[in-house]
Amino acid sequence: MIAGRLTEVRSRIATAARSVGRDPSSIQLIAVSKTCPLDAVREAYAAGQRDFGENRVQEALEKIHHATEPDIRWHLLGHLQTNKARKTVGAFASIQSVDSDDLLLKLERAALDEGIVQEVLLQVAVTYEATKFGVPPDDMPRLFEIGTRLEAVRIVGVMTIPPPAPTPEGARPWFRRLRELCDGWQAAGVPPAMLRELSMGMSGDFEVAIQEGATMVRVGTAIFGSRG
Ligand SMILES: *Cc1c(COP(=O)(O)O)cnc(C)c1O
Repeated sequence: MIAGRLTEVRSRIATAARSVGRDPSSIQLIAVSKTCPLDAVREAYAAGQRDFGENRVQEALEKIHHATEPDIRWHLLGHLQTNKARKTVGAFASIQSVDSDDLLLKLERAALDEGIVQEVLLQVAVTYEATKFGVPPDDMPRLFEIGTRLEAVRIVGVMTIPPPAPTPEGARPWFRRLRELCDGWQAAGVPPAMLRELSMGMSGDFEVAIQEGATMVRVGTAIFGSRG
C-alpha cells in the first residue's frame, strides 16, 4: 500500500517537473511520517525512501531513537521552541522551521558544543500574517545576515506553509511569491548557498509547488494515508 503510493507520488513529481522543463532528480521527496508508527516508516524505507519529515520534537526523537536504519535522514518541520533547540541539534538532517534569531543562536551554541554542523531552513511567513509561525519577509535579510556569521549552523534554504486553499491552484500565488522573494534576496547579496533549497508543497499541492520551483516537497497523507 505505502510502496504503491510512493511510486505514484514519485511519478507525479516527475511529471510535474517535466511539465516545466525541470529534472525530476532536482526535487527531493520528504515523506511526512508524523503520527505514523515506525512500521510505516520501515515500509516506506523498504520501498527506497530515505528522507522523512516529522513535526513534533518528542515524537520525532522517539522514532529516531528506535529506528535501526542508519541512513534515514530525518527533517524537523514543526515549530521548535528555543528551550528544545539543544535536543534537536545533530538528530535531524535539516531543521526547516527556524523562525527567529534567538533560535538560530541557540542552535549555533548547541551545534558548537556538539562539534557538528546543523543545516537549517528559515520558515517564511509568506502571507505576512502575524498569527502564524514563520519570519515575515521583511525580517528575512536580518536573519540571513546573522547566518553569515554562524559557524556551526548553516542556512541552506527557506520553507513555507501557505494558507489552506480550496484547490491546488489556490496555493500557486504563494509559492510564486516565495520564489520571487528568494530571487530578490539573492539579487540583494544573500549568498546563493543560503537559498539553495525551496521547501514547499504538500499532498494537496506539491505539483504546483514543483512548477513554481520547489526543490523539496513534504508529502504525508498521499503516501501514508489520512492521519485519522
Ligand atoms: C503535516 C505536514 C506536511 C504534510 O502534509 P500532508 O498534507 O499530509 O501531505 C507538510 N509540511 C508540514 C510542515 C506539515 O506539518
